Amino acid sequence: MHGGAPFKIALFADLHFGEDTWTAWGPRQDLNSARVMSSVLDQEQPDFVIYLGDVITANNVVVKNASLYWDKALSPTRNRGIPWSTIFGNHDDAPFEWPIEWFSQSGIPQIHCPDTNSPFPGCEECGFRGTTRLELMKNEIERNSLSYSKKGPKNLWPSVSNYVLKLSSSDDSQKAMIFMYFFDSGGGSYPKVISDSQVKWFQRKSKEVNPHARMPEIIFWHIPSEAYKTVAPKFETTSKHYCVGSIFSEDVAAQEGEMGIMKVLEERPSVKAVFVGHNHGLDWCCPYTKKLLWLCFARHSGYGGYGNWDRGARIIEINERPFSLKSWITMEDGHLHSEVLLSS
Ligand SMILES: [Zn+2]
Repeated sequence: MHGGAPFKIALFADLHFGEDTWTAWGPRQDLNSARVMSSVLDQEQPDFVIYLGDVITANNVVVKNASLYWDKALSPTRNRGIPWSTIFGNHDDAPFEWPIEWFSQSGIPQIHCPDTNSPFPGCEECGFRGTTRLELMKNEIERNSLSYSKKGPKNLWPSVSNYVLKLSSSDDSQKAMIFMYFFDSGGGSYPKVISDSQVKWFQRKSKEVNPHARMPEIIFWHIPSEAYKTVAPKFETTSKHYCVGSIFSEDVAAQEGEMGIMKVLEERPSVKAVFVGHNHGLDWCCPYTKKLLWLCFARHSGYGGYGNWDRGARIIEINERPFSLKSWITMEDGHLHSEVLLSS
């Protein structure tokens, strides 16, 4: 990737395409979500887009190949020629959940399994069995030259979206401006966790690409770690004071275990911020460990998924010289808020 200054990234979190596909309501939400993305992309003109997990609601997808919905979520970005990368959330490969009403007198609704002209094999048939992380990622990478996503090393199985991208300096493509690390934080077909092998992978990888931790690094995964709970603003205390955001409407729904990733990140001064989705009712950034590392939520971008908070996207802006890492939230209606300087 080539960086100019400034380099702008849009984060689309929790789009939840493919929800309630058998109703009229479901497909309408997908159109609404595409509209959110289009409006943010047209306003912000980002250089890169990150899909921060829960791209689809696989537990609602009835077609055999859920890549049909995954691909719909990518299309506003692809249509504008903007490169992107994706990571998995807990809904992306979740097994189908049979609605209990389908077993009442009304029975299973007539399902049209649906797209006869879909580019993905298996979309004309009903599946009810989900599509694996590997299949979703393979289909994305093989069909999209703008995709920077990767299937992480095999030994990190069953987690898949683990990789690092280097944003190059504008005057020397060999030189890095910043490194972006992507993790699969699990959920769906296996526990919500970042494993010990993923921690070791990060240690190895960061040592290899950024040996003296000279260049700044930022981190992306879907489900907040336990550490988010410790900095979460409580209404009754003053801690909110240091946090920047506009919705504080939920408790942090953290991963199921902590296998050491936070300790490693915390001890590495080059790591400036972690960005997650998952909690649709939170959009804050709070400082962690003496304000050196920021923990940030993105912003619920999709009309699928729980919650009716207004939709938007977190934007990250990186300036090379002098270095600065800035972020804010752009709403569907175009207004901006919650600007925060994460590093300079
Ligand atoms: Zn979600």
